[in-house]
Amino acid sequence: MAKGKSTVDEPKRLTAKELKEFEKLLLERRKTLLDQARATLEDQDPEVRAPDEVDQASKEYDKSFEYRMRDREKFLLRKIEKALVRISDKEYDLCESCGNPIGKKRLSARPEATYCIICKEEQERKEKMFQKKRQLRATIDF
Ligand SMILES: [Zn+2]
Repeated sequence: MAKGKSTVDEPKRLTAKELKEFEKLLLERRKTLLDQARATLEDQDPEVRAPDEVDQASKEYDKSFEYRMRDREKFLLRKIEKALVRISDKEYDLCESCGNPIGKKRLSARPEATYCIICKEEQERKEKMFQKKRQLRATIDF
């Protein structure tokens, strides 16, 4: 009887063709990311860069900046690789939390997404609530 309920634009599962497109997109992203990481490493190579021309202070700054970049790159790389595994497991377009389809629209905007928009919003709402509670506690402590 629940069939009568109209579903407003509910996300559908991706077709095999669409999955292929996302796989290609993710592989391209991974390649770009790895190329960038390699370029960063080559920049860092002391044999490539003349050490005398770089003063100590800016060298230190460069280093910490590059370390941070690489953490971010690593983080993104992990997300892309997870998405690729999810494609080969045929669960790429399913929400990790509720198991419903994530939807093409959301995946187009965020190809590495693992939550549907409803679960994502729920997660963000919980995070905000947690932050508010912490802020409140900080105020009381003062
Ligand atoms: Zn969900």
